[in-house]
Amino acid sequence: MEVIYEAFAFIFGLVWGSFLNVVIYRVPEGISIIKPGSFCPVCKKKIAWYDNIPILSYIILRGKCRHCGSKIPIKYPLVEFFSGLSFLLLWRNFHQIPLEILRGLVFVSLLIILAGIDSDRMLLPDIFTIPGIAAGIAFSFFISPGPLSSILGALIGYLSLWLVYKLFLLLTGKEGLGFGDFKMLAMIGAFMGIKQLLPVIIVSSLLGSLFGIGIILVKKKTFSTMLPFGVFLSIASWILYIFNLDLFNLYMGLWR
Ligand SMILES: [Zn+2]
Repeated sequence: MEVIYEAFAFIFGLVWGSFLNVVIYRVPEGISIIKPGSFCPVCKKKIAWYDNIPILSYIILRGKCRHCGSKIPIKYPLVEFFSGLSFLLLWRNFHQIPLEILRGLVFVSLLIILAGIDSDRMLLPDIFTIPGIAAGIAFSFFISPGPLSSILGALIGYLSLWLVYKLFLLLTGKEGLGFGDFKMLAMIGAFMGIKQLLPVIIVSSLLGSLFGIGIILVKKKTFSTMLPFGVFLSIASWILYIFNLDLFNLYMGLWR
């Protein structure tokens, strides 16, 4: 029976992911997320419902617009897939506790939206991060990590990246991070609590470094290429949150 619920959660998540794609593309452009219906951003032709089925349509159309043949970014089916996977894992790992799942859906949706917009435009809009901080703190009054950990998480989250930014600026004269990154980590701290801040920073920096080295090796770009750090913050938080990982305990467990 459980597998039916999980399949349902996955499909519901796919459809939600399709909506997240609309938000990722339209909100920074200032287009309404309700009207008009889906259209190709290149030829502006309307996309029929049968060409708008999550993941399946991308495969059937071989990643190309039916009308103009322009490439559909792989990001679209990826967002849908991760949204589907998120719903399934939230259902499974959060033991069907309604408030935990609701908070998870809000948090994970914000992570996916911010990663999507940051990878497109190197931008983490306030319209998502600021209400995200408020939502994270609001939930913490009813479920873990509790309001103190949540509020401290938001404050320290903001300040720690701001400090890294100032130090980096002082040492290299370059801006390695943006204010959007500070607000995003504040939001993550508000949802996950202060204890998870350091693990999030460690895992996201690790992912960012690996990706950066990969780019240098593959594309022969220099290290000055700006990386969308929000994407790595998002991936790190997603993994730690959805699997409820406690890196500190895992590490201590290795020495026992
Ligand atoms: Zn087109």
